[in-house]
Parts: sequence; C-alpha cells; structure tokens
Amino acid sequence: MSTSEFVYNGRGARVVFGSGSLTHIGREMRELDVGRALIISGQDQGALVTSVAGQLSASAVGVFDRAAMHVPADLVVEAGSVAASLEADCLIAVGGGSAIGLAKAIALESSLPIIAVPTTYSGSEMTPIFGITEGGLKRTGTSSRVLPKTVIYDPNVTVTLPVALSVTSGINAIAHAAEGLYARDANPLTSLMAEEGIAALARSLPRIVARADNLPGRSDALYGAWLCGAVLGSVGMALHHKLCHTLGGSFNLPHAATHTVVLPHAMAYNAEAAPEAMKRIARALGHHSAAQGLYELARGNGAPVALNELGMVEDQLDQAADIACINAYWNPRPLERDAIRSLLQDAFEGKAPAR
Ligand code: NAD
Repeated sequence: MSTSEFVYNGRGARVVFGSGSLTHIGREMRELDVGRALIISGQDQGALVTSVAGQLSASAVGVFDRAAMHVPADLVVEAGSVAASLEADCLIAVGGGSAIGLAKAIALESSLPIIAVPTTYSGSEMTPIFGITEGGLKRTGTSSRVLPKTVIYDPNVTVTLPVALSVTSGINAIAHAAEGLYARDANPLTSLMAEEGIAALARSLPRIVARADNLPGRSDALYGAWLCGAVLGSVGMALHHKLCHTLGGSFNLPHAATHTVVLPHAMAYNAEAAPEAMKRIARALGHHSAAQGLYELARGNGAPVALNELGMVEDQLDQAADIACINAYWNPRPLERDAIRSLLQDAFEGKAPAR
C-alpha cells in the first residue's frame, strides 16, 4: 500500500479502556456535561443495567430495555419518545450491536450524545453507520450524529457473553478488519489497526474458549474488537459484508455466526486479487493462508462452519447469489455470479475454502 498519498478519516470517540473502567461512567457523563441518562439495553442485560443505574443513581433517569435485532422502527419511535418525556440529555447504550443500534437510531433524530458500553465484539460503537428496519426492509445510512461520543470498554462486562457467541462475535470483528485491509480507501493507519486487531482476536479467542472468565483474554479480545470496529468505521467494506447482509436480511440468519461461516470463503474468493491484504491477514493469524487460517480459527474453537447449521436451506442459495450481485459493493475481484454461487455452496456445506 502506498504511504505517499491517502485520506485518513479519524473518528472522534473518547475511549476509556480496562477492567473496572465502567466505574468511571459518572465521570464520563460529567466530561460530556450531561446529567440525565436514558439507559438503552436488551432484555437479558438486567443485572448489568441495574448495576449501571445504581452507580449513576439520580443521573440515570430511565431504562429502555427492549432493544432487538435489526432495530425495528416502532421501537425507535417508542424509545425516542421515552427519552423526550424523561428529558434525557444523553443515552447510555449497554449491550451488543442491537442495543447500540437502537441508541444510534434515537440519536439520529434527537442528536442526543451516546456513551456506549459494548458487551460483544460487534464494533458498532466505533462507526457512524445506523440501520432501521421497517416493513421488512432495513434502511442503513451514515451520520456523525450517531457516532458515540464516549466508549467504555470494560472486559468485565463481556465475561457473561456465552463462549460460542464470543467466538462468532470475535470473528465478526475480524471480518471488518480483513475487508478493511483491501478496501479501496484503506490507508496505512487503518491497516495497522486491522492487522493488530486480527492478531489480538486470533490469540485471545482460544483463551476464552478454554476459560470463559479469563480476564486477560477477554481484555485482549475487546482490544481487538475496538481496533476492528475502528476499521469498519473508517473504510468501505466489500463482498463479504454484502453476502452477510444478504443472508441476514433476506434469510434471517444470525449475524455473527453468518460472518463466521462466510469469511473464509470470501477471503478465498478475493485471495488472488488482494495478495498484500491476504499476507497481512495470514501473518496476523500466524498461518500460511488467510482463508484457511480463518476456517481453522472457527472450526478449532467450536464455531459453526456451514450455513446449513444456521438454518439456511439449499434451495435458497440461487436467490442469495442473485441478491448479492444486485447493487454490489466494490470488491477487489469483480463479482461473478457463478463463482459467488459456488462460494455459497461451499459455505452451505461447510467445506474448507477453495484454494
Ligand atoms: P446483539 O447485540 O443482538 O447480541 C446478541 C445476543 O447476545 C443478545 O441476545 C444479547 O442480549 C446477548 N448479549 C450481548 N452481550 C452479552 C453479554 N455480555 N453477556 C450475555 N449476553 C450478551 O448482537 P451483536 O452481534 O453484538 O450485534 C448484531 C447487530 O449489530 C446486527 O443487527 C448488526 O447489523 C449490528 N451491527 C451494526 C454495526 C454498525 O456499525 N452499525 C456494526 C456491527 C453490527
């Protein structure tokens, strides 16, 4: 990659990182000069939400705990009116991409600042990308209004993330960095973050599988997720993300697990067109091949490697290949419908990625 000419789009979130950093949440509200927080979460984050609300006492004016996958538009309206009626002056998103996504959608209308406390490795907290689903269609867009102002990365809040979800969520993060390495607008800084992020996740996921409450491992994984999320927030994504949006959006497959299954195959598809990126991914994985290394990372840590394990039906593969080729994202290798169909067949069957 050229180091002589590039654009680096630095994103402005303040990051507070480390075990116990959640105890600084009151200080972080004062830093933003806000004092009335609405906490946004999913329903199964009760204990964590209670602890955050308890810490903030009167500065937490309410909790909206019904965040759901894909950010349904009616929930955005409802949560937005709760924020307005409570005169909240900030949102604290506690959870994964779904909770953070809901907070972003509220902020899009209200411009309320967001403090994010990520509990998965999705990376949404680092991006200005939002998505809202209405009538079965997910509208996505980009706005600096939805980018969290502060992100508190406390590995303690990730210890409860089930091991299986930790692995798929971690590989979901790796996908951002892997595609970031061959993005058209990649630059030396995002590529540094990408390689370091992949390496941190690749070395930490086996430690988490061995012991879910391994705090140094959790910390390393969250560090990797931050870097990978920062890449997603700075540069464009390609075929892999398009395939996963297709499979998630049109066939309702689970987000992180779908990324995990598809990634090795997307890398194999792009291998010859993006040799420098592949070299860096492989180096970060400590493997001779990016695609094979990712496949082994998933399989070796008990993650699904086949779309048929996720509820995909073989009859849907033709339609998925067609949808993936409509409004295609830029990709280092042109999208060839038959080759994409064959990629999906391999992913469906759980085969090792094509060489
Ligand atoms: P998620 O937020 O839906 O969480 C998955 C499940 O894990 C949920 O049931 C949740 O309650 C549970 N969970 C989360 N953290 C936990 C913890 N620490 N302990 C126990 N359970 C926990 O899933 P996700 O993978 O984090 O996010 C996926 C969503 O985020 C998708 O809708 C995706 O489109 C979106 N996303 C958006 C961006 C962006 O930049 N806008 C980036 C990545 C993902």
